[in-house]
Formats: sequence, structure tokens, C-alpha cells
Amino acid sequence: MTCPRIEVDLSKIRANTQTLVRRLAPRGIAVTGVNKGVCGHPAIARAMLDGGASGLAEARIENVQGLRAAGLTSPTTLIRTPMMSQVDQVVRSCAASYNTEVAVIMALATAATRVGTVHGIILMVEMGDGRDGIPLEQVAGIAQQVTQIRGVALQGIGANSGCLNGRAPTASQMVALSELAAEVEGVCGTLLSVVSGGGSGSLPWAFGDHPTGRINDLRLGEAILLGVEPLSGDRIAGMHTDAFTLVAEVIETGAKPAPFPIALPDLFTEHGCSTPALGASTRMILALGHQDTDILGLSLPKGLTVIGATSDHLVVATHRPPPPVGGEVKIRMNYTALMHAMAAPDINVIPMGDAPARPSRPSHGRAELLAPA
Ligand SMILES: *Cc1c(COP(=O)(O)O)cnc(C)c1O
Repeated sequence: MTCPRIEVDLSKIRANTQTLVRRLAPRGIAVTGVNKGVCGHPAIARAMLDGGASGLAEARIENVQGLRAAGLTSPTTLIRTPMMSQVDQVVRSCAASYNTEVAVIMALATAATRVGTVHGIILMVEMGDGRDGIPLEQVAGIAQQVTQIRGVALQGIGANSGCLNGRAPTASQMVALSELAAEVEGVCGTLLSVVSGGGSGSLPWAFGDHPTGRINDLRLGEAILLGVEPLSGDRIAGMHTDAFTLVAEVIETGAKPAPFPIALPDLFTEHGCSTPALGASTRMILALGHQDTDILGLSLPKGLTVIGATSDHLVVATHRPPPPVGGEVKIRMNYTALMHAMAAPDINVIPMGDAPARPSRPSHGRAELLAPA
């Protein structure tokens, strides 16, 4: 098989989705599978749906078009407020989108009317994250405006938290979101079908022993893909953290004169990696570099230590006999490393494990997903 490659165990993606769906269902919360971290890979999206996700969410319209091209017809919501320049594509590929700008909602309405559809609008509420969102006190007014625009339908509200500022939502913020749902319904006279309480960072809140109120959806990416709670980095009980494996090939091995010619980046020591006893170790080079992934987000097998990286080389120290040239090293990735590697043009994505019934098309990184819809 080609290197570098990402092996994806689809059965673990499905199992992780299932675990979250089962834990959240008794709290009245459905799981929307967020696929942006894997560039909207269709086989991974299918595994989320097979695991019980009620729908899919994407940040980029190109990813949605890739899903559609691969034959996925399930409801897919755009979770980044649409670009004005893409409203025509958005109304064609997505039944609904999260929005924060009235001007964009108007443009979506015009575009939807033009193609004879009605586009669903979920208003993103700013709850202290400082990224996208409408200030809480303006939401009801904008919601009322939306209900009066032909071509769009108000479907719900959603909160964003922890994305930018890394702070988990508080129980009182979630109560405020529930109260806002009731207020919007009172003002608009329509029922909101979606009250979305955030992403994986909202899981500790959702698992807590307090009422979940009106919140009936979470948009989960990292938790499903990597089995961790993103703000703490902790593994979620019962979840697989090894659905993805980055496999890189050894292109050179052997002792190098100490000291190494490459300075050890400070960042590695700051991140808790041990400094190898440089003189005593064997060195090897993997065909992997900054162009492929976020090197700081990689975890190598025990006994291997990253010395440094350039655009195309990863220099590794080992105290054990290294694999021969042409051998392979299996590497774990955090979310940022995964996201970059999935988008890297030279990395093949190999879906494995208990694959869903319908075969997925062979995939070659992001390029395949950009095929015209
Ligand atoms: C990325 C994103 C999510 C998913 O976040 P995870 O931490 O990966 O679960 C949810 N909502 C929005 C708006 C996002 O941009």
C-alpha cells in the first residue's frame, strides 16, 4: 500500500457515534455528525449515519458537494454561516444552514426562491465564544424577520462555545439558550425543531446530571472521530481513540554523529516530549513533513522521539533497532494533525474495518471530494 496513508477503521467511527447516540438519547439530544475534520470524507460520513447520527454537518460547501457526488442524500447542514458568493450552491446542496447575517439570509432566500425550494435557517447565537453568532438580545428580532422572508424557513437556534476561547459552556448558558428558544417561539409563533447546544465541548454539560431543557441536538466532530473531549483532551468512556492511523515510510536509517545537525524545536520539549539522549540513539527519517500534517499533533510509537521536521522529512530518534528502509511506522494524530493530513494531496485515505454496506469510491485525499457535483 502507498505511503503516507491514513487507515480509517470505520467500525470504530460507527461505534463511537453509537455510544454517543445511546448516551444522549435519554436526555432528548440527537447527534449531528460533523465531518469537517476529515474533509467531508463520504465513507466516514456514512459510518456516522450508520452509527445513528440524525444528520450531517459541514463547514464548507465543497465538502457537502463531495457527499452528494458520492451518493449521500441525508440531511446536511452548513454550520459555518454561508459565504454570500456561495448562496446558490448552498441552497442546492443543503436543506439548512446556520446563519448570523440578515443580508446572507436574504440572499439565501432569493437563491432558494429561484430554484423553487425553501431553505432552512438556524440562527447561531453568540454565547461568549467570541467567534460567530448573533448577540442573544438580537436573536428574537432577527428570527421574526426570518419568518417574514419568502424562500427561507426558521428551523431553530444553536449555540457555539469553546471553539475559539476554549471554555466549556456553563449550565446557565444552556438554560439561557432554552429560554431563548421559548422566547423566539413566542415572538414568531412557530415551533423550533432544532435547538443545538454546541459541539463536542458541550458533552460534559450534556452528560451532567441537570435537565437538558429544550436542547435537542449536539454537533459532534472530534468526539466521534477521536473519542476525546476536546477541551480537556480526555478520552470519553467507552470510546475508541484509535480510529485513525497515519502510516509513514522509513526512507533512511543509521547513526548520525552527535550532536545532531538539527536543533530540537523548543515546542516539542514544551509539549512534554522527552529529549532523547542524542548521542546514543539511532536516527531514522520518515517520508512525512510539514506539508502533510501538523507535526506537533503526532504521537509516535513508544521509544520513538521526533527530533525535527522539514517540509518533507520527519527525523526520528530511536533507542531500539529501527525498522528497515521501506518499513512503516504507525502514528496517532490529534484533531489538527488529522484535519491537515486528511486534506493533504499526497496522503491516501484507506477506509477499513467493518465497512458499511454500500461500497465507497476509492478516495485520494481532498482532491476526490472536489470532483464536480
Ligand atoms: C467544528 C464545529 C463543530 C464541531 O466541533 P467538535 O468540537 O469537533 O465537535 C460544531 N459546530 C460548529 C459551528 C463548528 O464549527
